[in-house]
Amino acid sequence: MNFTQWWWCYKKYITVMTSEDGMEKVIKFGEAILHLRLKYEFSVTSWGRTTKRNQFVSGVPGSNHLLWLAVDVILDDQKKDVEFEKDAGILGLMAIYEQDHYHIQPK
Ligand SMILES: [Zn+2]
Repeated sequence: MNFTQWWWCYKKYITVMTSEDGMEKVIKFGEAILHLRLKYEFSVTSWGRTTKRNQFVSGVPGSNHLLWLAVDVILDDQKKDVEFEKDAGILGLMAIYEQDHYHIQPK
């Protein structure tokens, strides 16, 4: 990650984590994930990340994981599930299937 990318991530992180609106967004996101969990059996394998950890796992530089606004989950049946994606959408989430897990973030 070059300095410009790092600075962009840092500013975005500070904006979210130090503002009431930003914190509220993270809390609402967590609530939506828990609501999804009421219907589906899944485990969370990744949530918030440091920039160092994000680089280690080859996350994209501006990843929502840096803002604690993304979770990676594995459904117990480990398959793409269109109904899961639809229900996530109803909760204001976007569920992206990435081969062996879902990456979920706010729409
Ligand atoms: Zn992810």
